Amino acid sequence: MIGDFVAPEVGWLRAPDGENARVVFRAGKGRDGYMMNSDILEQFERAVAIVKKQWPDEDHYFVYDNAPTHLKRQDCALSASNMTKGPSANFHVAVDVLNEHGRPVVDADGKKVKAKERMANGTHNGQEQSFYFPDDYEVVELRGWFKGTERILQERGYNTAGKKSQCGKSFHNDCPKDRTDCCCRRMLYSEPDFQQVSSQLELLAKLKLGVSILYLPKFHCELNFIEQCWGYAKARYRVLPPTKSQEDMEKNVLKVLDEIPLETMQRFATRSLRFAHAYSTGLNGAQAAWVAKKYRGHRTIPDLTPFDLVEINKRRDVGQ
Ligand SMILES: [Zn+2]
Repeated sequence: MIGDFVAPEVGWLRAPDGENARVVFRAGKGRDGYMMNSDILEQFERAVAIVKKQWPDEDHYFVYDNAPTHLKRQDCALSASNMTKGPSANFHVAVDVLNEHGRPVVDADGKKVKAKERMANGTHNGQEQSFYFPDDYEVVELRGWFKGTERILQERGYNTAGKKSQCGKSFHNDCPKDRTDCCCRRMLYSEPDFQQVSSQLELLAKLKLGVSILYLPKFHCELNFIEQCWGYAKARYRVLPPTKSQEDMEKNVLKVLDEIPLETMQRFATRSLRFAHAYSTGLNGAQAAWVAKKYRGHRTIPDLTPFDLVEINKRRDVGQ
């Protein structure tokens, strides 16, 4: 598995001295393991360092797929999912234990070692709100306990009379559509601080590195032209003489990646832009694909002709 960064202007991210942020990973048990969020963060920091050194005066945007390893939030980030309605002595979040390199510690079975921690504070009307009773709380037995969703909502000024903890078994599936006040979990889940939790990648970008992250919508690899770069390299790799040597395999992979012409990458990038533009005008997947193909070579979709509209109309009921 290869992880790397690419931009239409320059191709693969490379510093003049050849330094790069590429990751070569033999994925799987008994090999290099699996690419974790901590690996993604580490690679991102290396990429930002290269980019900032080379283009110190530009604003930098890094585009990531909507994949769980990219979206991972901090372990103690706000989440209403498992909260109890009433006070609880046991409500904590399981947090990865990290070693001195910031990587999760794993046990003999390869499982991540977890520690219990308090969930982070919420914010309401610009004020921090702890979800745990203070150590000097008047009811001695409740000191340090989790407050429960009902109490948290009441402190925010909501009336929770008659509200259940949650609707049905899963509050994502069983709450009535478009309701935000049906149950305590849904109410808290709908609060702005619960809705606006940043991913670890976004926090690192914003708080430490001073760059921006853009996430692509789910299941839209046509918007990410790196996918076409991988595809192009794979096709070239397959026609090379087969080898059983891991070393040769790696050499071949790197060779085909480095041999993708810049103009080819730029063609892929332009195609992704055409798709993005087509979606922004309201076309569905099949329509966008048809338009992107017809107007190949254009960065944006030009004004459509009546003939185009007929073709687009034919594709209006085709799924994504
Ligand atoms: Zn509900």
